[in-house]
Amino acid sequence: MTEHKFRRTHRFPIINIIISLSLTIISFSQTNPRYNYSVDLTNVRHDRINVILDCRDFGQDQLIYHFPKVVPGTYTKSDFGRFIHKFQAFDQNGNELRCKKEGKNSFIISNASDIQTISYWVSDTWDMFFGHIRILPMEGTNIDDGRNFVINTFAVFGYFDKHVQNPATINFTIPEGFYGVSALHQTPINDRKVRFNAEDYHHLADCPIMFSSPDTVNFKIRNMEVTIGTYNEIPNTPFSSKVYEDIYPSVKAIGAFLDTLPADNYAFIYYLTDARKLGEILNAKYFKVPRAIGFLLTHRIPVGGALEHNNSTFSYSFDVGEGYEDLTMDIVSDISVHEFLHIITPLNLHSQYIDNFNYIEPKMSKHLWLYEGCTEYFAKLVTVKEDLITPKEFLIKKMRRKLIRGEKFPNEKMSFTEMSANVLKLKYKRHYNQVYQRGAVLAMLLDIEIIRLTEGQKTLLDVINELLTKYDKDHPFDEDSFIDEFVSLVHPDLKIFFDKYIEGREDIPYQEILNTVGVDYHKSIEENRPIYPIRENDIKYRRRNMNRTVEITRVKKDDFVGFQKGDIVKYDIFYNYFLDENGNYLPEDSTIAIPVTRNGKEIKLPVTIKYAQKTTENKINIMPEMTAEQRKYFNIWLGINE
Ligand SMILES: [Zn+2]
Repeated sequence: MTEHKFRRTHRFPIINIIISLSLTIISFSQTNPRYNYSVDLTNVRHDRINVILDCRDFGQDQLIYHFPKVVPGTYTKSDFGRFIHKFQAFDQNGNELRCKKEGKNSFIISNASDIQTISYWVSDTWDMFFGHIRILPMEGTNIDDGRNFVINTFAVFGYFDKHVQNPATINFTIPEGFYGVSALHQTPINDRKVRFNAEDYHHLADCPIMFSSPDTVNFKIRNMEVTIGTYNEIPNTPFSSKVYEDIYPSVKAIGAFLDTLPADNYAFIYYLTDARKLGEILNAKYFKVPRAIGFLLTHRIPVGGALEHNNSTFSYSFDVGEGYEDLTMDIVSDISVHEFLHIITPLNLHSQYIDNFNYIEPKMSKHLWLYEGCTEYFAKLVTVKEDLITPKEFLIKKMRRKLIRGEKFPNEKMSFTEMSANVLKLKYKRHYNQVYQRGAVLAMLLDIEIIRLTEGQKTLLDVINELLTKYDKDHPFDEDSFIDEFVSLVHPDLKIFFDKYIEGREDIPYQEILNTVGVDYHKSIEENRPIYPIRENDIKYRRRNMNRTVEITRVKKDDFVGFQKGDIVKYDIFYNYFLDENGNYLPEDSTIAIPVTRNGKEIKLPVTIKYAQKTTENKINIMPEMTAEQRKYFNIWLGINE
């Protein structure tokens, strides 16, 4: 963007302002022509839409029009040029100009000094099958004529070489009754035409747009206007008000969690695919796994996901139908909180590799521990800090699972920062998902180390809030010296943690670090403890509802619970009923009542807890007795006021 600098105005202020303004206007029209794209969504052919770019002010001898190879937040090669067809350019007399495709993503236009328009067709990425190099739904394009259009702008609109900073206007012709949800500012022209404006290509690429019949909810969090817009493939199943009920407490909690909300509008955009069939398959008696794999193969693996943007999230997930409402909502809610928290990092806290993103030859930043790890950790931490979940649930359900999965990271072969910096290479990309597992655990342990080293004066969030006063979406930190800067805000000894576990390849001493906050951890322990009522009991069972419940299929002689064949019971009854609020075992021979669905009715089944000598893997519990220091740090960590 052109910067307005009024120098020497103290001497001739008015003249200077006039000169500066006229210079600005001239320079605008000369160096900053506007992209003027038009798309007619009522003209779909062969699952493709036509983009026309009026680019008469861009004329020069040779023009190169690029589509992104990689887009921010995906950490993978997308090569959007693969989905472009019939690329043509015309001069002001309507003559076609010579165009040549170079590589996968660029078009070179020759003798382009009199260029007037570019025209090309974009195909639907959701309906294409490319094995491992296919485009994930949350970064792709959906062209479902007359029903729904998902326009991930970077997949549809390109930019001229060295003109990534130019402003853009997009005019859409839309089917009757359609409505566009996006964080971009929109102006309705009439009931069939709508215009969106973007400051530059980065802004445009950062704002997905979804068109369909409207299903929206608007609300406000502090200074931020929030819109939820949904499309559900299952007809007549509105979703926005349901998702609002579910995410509002978390979004409000994040509002309270941050010193400032770094955006004044935000859009949650949800696409729900009809997965009722999957629900049926998972409850079936036979061939569940192959049939489920078959379903997923024909329904865009992976199951779902979302992509973060500065002012919006586009999320793709499954509506598994009746009996799975909780599951559908849990997935959507988890995704939403995570994506929304990305307004902290990387969106407002990132290195120069992400700032002014290079869509063609991006350099990957080594700080995924921060961008994804801290985000995922905060998504869980915010819910416990704001009392939406208990410390037991946070630690023993959410973080324990991440710890177990995180242990699969091959830290003897690569450090976390090495994986991040090389994530475009297959060898490293295979472990990308660890950002949500080990990455989140690393963030949790980093938080505890910060609390210990500052004697409770600071937490990870305090350090992040401090960094946010210096950096924002236009001011990146330095990729190489960031860890040193981070350490300097805490204590010199924090460097050891980075050296060993984030930049280094050492095993993480969970027990040692967790003990600081009064949490006990054992990778494997022999102990006298309650027998698990499902897994260690003398019964046979089969899993239902994606492991949420089990059906008892056979009761044998040593069953200690008192099950009957056909009973349906929640899989996590051990966690819910055999442990106290700190995750410690209830005493032997104590009697509890567990809910069981028997013959279609819910009953409370009395159970006497039996103990035996057993091995427990990855045991985590909050210490029943803590030292004063552990209690203090525990409370600071989880935001508990006593
Ligand atoms: Zn993320």
